[in-house]
Amino acid sequence: YFVGDDQWSGNIVTLKGEQAHHISRVMRMSSGDVIICINDQGEAAYCRITQMEPDHITCRIEEDLSSDTELPVHITVAQSDLKADKYEWVVQKSTELGVGAITGFSADHSVVKWDAKKSAKRIARFQKITRESAEQSERLKIPVIERKSSLDEVLKETQPQPYDHKWIMSERSAREGEHHSFDDALRQLQPSARILLVFGPEGGFSIREHQMAIDLGCKPVSLGARILRAETAPVATLAMLVYQLEL
Ligand code: SAM
Repeated sequence: YFVGDDQWSGNIVTLKGEQAHHISRVMRMSSGDVIICINDQGEAAYCRITQMEPDHITCRIEEDLSSDTELPVHITVAQSDLKADKYEWVVQKSTELGVGAITGFSADHSVVKWDAKKSAKRIARFQKITRESAEQSERLKIPVIERKSSLDEVLKETQPQPYDHKWIMSERSAREGEHHSFDDALRQLQPSARILLVFGPEGGFSIREHQMAIDLGCKPVSLGARILRAETAPVATLAMLVYQLEL
């Protein structure tokens, strides 16, 4: 469970509200059981439940947990707007697969457009998903959810280059034979490298976006000869990266 500094004091951790409900009602734990808590600094510890009330759980920190479940690099998934259920799936699976940030943006061919009110609601919903998903994957960090207005803003804000590698997933490049593979770049990756992965909407990227991304330093990458569903592409890409980085 991710806990704020106000919940972690000395060797005592307290959990309330939804977290307490999850521990007592969903996990059906009781006094004496052990949970894992992670604080804002990414420090994790085994915590034994010492007191349980319906909406308030107190734990004692028993032992530091040294396992590191974070990827050795920082990955940002820039995913253009998709239908809500598909986007939520991308957010959940990307978190499970270890990303550091998920940046939403409206693409030229996005079928759905989010206005400001919708965006605020969606961001809150995605933050809930990343938190729950990071907890279940026993991660030490919750991915950051960001919002940009367009691909132009996603890429121009990265100038001058906070990313070491920028890749745009492009079925167009696969057809036109101009794609790169991850292999060479991955072999030379430095620990803590920053990587940007850009994914298109249901209707794919426009020619304008594709060209602009290349002009701004993105390498076009193919995920194979078949066109994948928009929500499949990030999951397939991240699975390949995890394989290369960790296995
Ligand atoms: N029409 C389908 C849908 O509704 O899901 C396919 C959408 S596909 C065009 C959406 C995005 O997935 C593309 O813009 C690209 O980023 C990525 N993608 C899908 N297949 C790909 C492939 N074979 N190579 C590279 N990227 C791919």
